[in-house]
Amino acid sequence: MSSIYTGPVFEMARNQFTSVADYLEIPHGQRDRLLYPKRAIAISCPINLDNGETAVFQGYRVQHHLTLGPTKGGTRFAPSVDIGEVSALAIWMSWKCALAGLPYGGAKGGVTVDVHALSRRELESLSRRYMQEMIPFVGPHVDVMAPDMGTNEQVMAWFMDTYSMYQGRTVNEIVTGKPVSSGGTEGRREATGLGVAHLIFRSMDRLKMKPSESTAIIQGFGNVGSYAAIELARRGVRIIGVSDHTACYFDRAGFDVNALVDHAARNGSLKGYSTESVFDPAELLVQPCDILVPAAVERVIDEHVAPRLKCRILAEAANGPTTPEADAVLDQRRREIFIIPDILCNSGGVIVSYFEWVQDLQQLFWHRNEVLDRLRGLLDNAFERVMARVDKDDISHRVAAMAIGVDKVAQAKATRGLFP
Ligand code: NAD
Repeated sequence: MSSIYTGPVFEMARNQFTSVADYLEIPHGQRDRLLYPKRAIAISCPINLDNGETAVFQGYRVQHHLTLGPTKGGTRFAPSVDIGEVSALAIWMSWKCALAGLPYGGAKGGVTVDVHALSRRELESLSRRYMQEMIPFVGPHVDVMAPDMGTNEQVMAWFMDTYSMYQGRTVNEIVTGKPVSSGGTEGRREATGLGVAHLIFRSMDRLKMKPSESTAIIQGFGNVGSYAAIELARRGVRIIGVSDHTACYFDRAGFDVNALVDHAARNGSLKGYSTESVFDPAELLVQPCDILVPAAVERVIDEHVAPRLKCRILAEAANGPTTPEADAVLDQRRREIFIIPDILCNSGGVIVSYFEWVQDLQQLFWHRNEVLDRLRGLLDNAFERVMARVDKDDISHRVAAMAIGVDKVAQAKATRGLFP
């Protein structure tokens, strides 16, 4: 089938789906219905720049399927954003939500923009205009947005405010990942990173590894990478390598994670943290370590990097960090490298987003401990189901995780039937 969905990231999502569909023996005639997005919206967002000129940015929203409930997914502001990338991310969200047992289909959106080049006022204008253009296509029971790369709690507050102004009342259930002061939930900010660390500790238990004797390398030091680093370090893991888009550091003695976090908070990035431990970012991922956490962008582990990885656990905190070619290599190295696949590894974010949506709909707010206890419960359940499937069928962790998600959506589509 020819379609508007093209590009390397979409091809990755399609290839992964094909492997899983083959494993599940899904008839060929049913595959397009499961894979292709229900809707894709493309918009132009004009805003006034501080210099008096007008700039137009391209924005997208892809809603993958509406079979289990509203769609749910982040909004990415980044130069790489295009319809292929956004649709792949929406598809992964579907399998992730289904694996975690959430009543959602996947969605993703974004704007092709370098946020570092915008002033705060320009970012607010772009955020508000993006949401305003999306109003006909979203809603608390239609499609619920959340943050992703390049967006944050403040952007979600602007989204919520813009939507609410048009409705004439406060609708805080329209987006998740908001500040707690605007209907956000306790625990959302740190949920993804804490979830990544929780699943790493579950994996270490299974592999009989001790956190206090282990080392970790983390690529990406934004929301996910920094909270994962804090939690790993809190349990005694030595963080020996970190990077972001501005800097890369490596030191076998380990870093003071709190000092890194303080530096990044004060300066907006890791740049200038150290002169002695500066390291080549292209070599960071292949340094020996117990735990490798890619927490930045997709496709960083390709067929050249995969054979050179020297980690015991690969915790895919980012979405799509491993290409299908690399996956084939890692499949051969299954006994050496224990992968926590992305749709499981970073699902803490959407799980707590779901809790936020539920609390907003009910206007009944939970204590942070309740949020995090329930988060751990859902993560444990998903982890155990993935491991049970791996043990039963001797398949890769990725195929097992995706199979649970794809199977759930396929069954729901089969029982609902095809309208009309
Ligand atoms: P963020 O914008 O807060 O941080 C991204 C980090 O990656 C920054 O430190 C940035 O400097 C760094 N980075 C960008 N390009 C890089 C490169 N080439 N090399 C090294 N570092 C680079 O974003 P985030 O919310 O932390 O998201 C990170 C990843 O996790 C993304 O893949 C995102 O889709 C995924 N994710 C995020 C959430 C969430 O709740 N935030 C949930 C699920 C998945």
